[in-house]
Amino acid sequence: MLSLLITLLTLRCVDAKSEDAFAQRGYYITFMRMPTYDLADWKKIVDGIHDDGGNTLLLWVAGAFRSPKFPITWRYNADHENIRQDFVRALIDHAHSKGIKVLLGFTPFGYDGVNQYSLEHTNLKAIGKDGKPVQPFGIGCWGFNLCPSKPESQRFMLEYTREMVFDFYPNADGLLIESSDYAICHCKDCGEHFFEREFEFVRRISNEIWAKKPDATIVVFPHYFSGSEVPGFGVKAAKLPFDPRWSLVFSPHSAHPEPALIKRAKSSLWWDDSPALRTPNEIRAGARRAKEIGATGYVPSLEAFTFVATEAEEGQSWLKGRRQIPLGFGWLEPGEPPYNELPMQVQRIAYREFSRNPDLPFETYKQILGRDLFGSVSTPRLIDDALNLQAILNFQRTWCQPSPLTSPERVRAMKMRGELTSQKRSDYRAALDRLKNIEQMHRESRSSGEKELHRITNWVLNLWNDKEAAPLIAPNN
Ligand SMILES: [Zn+2]
Repeated sequence: MLSLLITLLTLRCVDAKSEDAFAQRGYYITFMRMPTYDLADWKKIVDGIHDDGGNTLLLWVAGAFRSPKFPITWRYNADHENIRQDFVRALIDHAHSKGIKVLLGFTPFGYDGVNQYSLEHTNLKAIGKDGKPVQPFGIGCWGFNLCPSKPESQRFMLEYTREMVFDFYPNADGLLIESSDYAICHCKDCGEHFFEREFEFVRRISNEIWAKKPDATIVVFPHYFSGSEVPGFGVKAAKLPFDPRWSLVFSPHSAHPEPALIKRAKSSLWWDDSPALRTPNEIRAGARRAKEIGATGYVPSLEAFTFVATEAEEGQSWLKGRRQIPLGFGWLEPGEPPYNELPMQVQRIAYREFSRNPDLPFETYKQILGRDLFGSVSTPRLIDDALNLQAILNFQRTWCQPSPLTSPERVRAMKMRGELTSQKRSDYRAALDRLKNIEQMHRESRSSGEKELHRITNWVLNLWNDKEAAPLIAPNN
């Protein structure tokens, strides 16, 4: 009997182990674009990652730590809670207490923090395809990407990164060196050699970190090694020697999988935008894709922005001067993190289940979702309504714009531009009719999950009960 029990227990352990599809699970979060959350909020966010089975946090911190050498890098972000009072080191300690490794994210020669340096050092601006200095660009943090062939750009990148890794957050587990997905430098020294120039910095900072911390995880893009066409830039990746201490990251839009490199890397991560922007079906597809390419981890985006836009993000002038709405959840106060809200629970439970087992049948996920959200009073109707509400909140949502279904302001801007067709208005009315149905169904809520479902549905419908908003989508407008 005892031996049978031991056999059964052993089988159970083997099963549990074989169920874990990935060694690295967790999320990519753009910390620098979330100025409104303090240490207490972030600890809860980290606890949530732990609840979702995560052990990895890609935390993008450039632009959001108070660099003494380069104050221009955070001046735009002076209201960020971590600029007001630095807490990321304590946050990393907290993450470690939950078994979560934290990798510090930044982009070499571009994006947040770094692109501010060229505001003061205009000679370092990268050159565009047209042979002229680049135009300002950014998401939240607007500036100019740098030319890596300029020694001053290299020096700045090294010193800024050293500050972040060695002075500020030496307890971090490594780096995410995220190559730009929007621009390179096309000057005569860069061009086809751009990624060789970028690599000079990457190689050097990696060596410095490994000298101090040999087991540090340094995640890089394949653009230094693969020799393949780099999506979007019209240049090829470099073909430099690969050090198997590096980990790699791949994504649908900026770095296509490289099977030969994946086999040699310390670890390899698949990234996509499913948890942030899409639905549970795409999360399942993302987990399956990660497995199919042989990635050791699936670490997709959980980005939620709360910065005040100073520029027309995504070309949308109506966003200028407004605070970004995290995940489009407009019922939240600026300091309230969005990750425990019901539509995000739908996504997080999907991530937890499909990143553990990408082959899990969708019906099984639905049952688990019902149990977690509604407990013993769960019904198929409730589960479908929760999935519908989540899909409506992410319907045509973009990084910076809420769904048109939850943003009369966005629909008004579409109307002003002549883009609000009768087809669109009719699609929006049909979606809102589905919501009205959900709202009526759950007026007599029996569980806290059902109350939440009703509350959020009601919030969306009330946006359109407004006398200025309603005519925007009326049939004969
Ligand atoms: Zn250049």
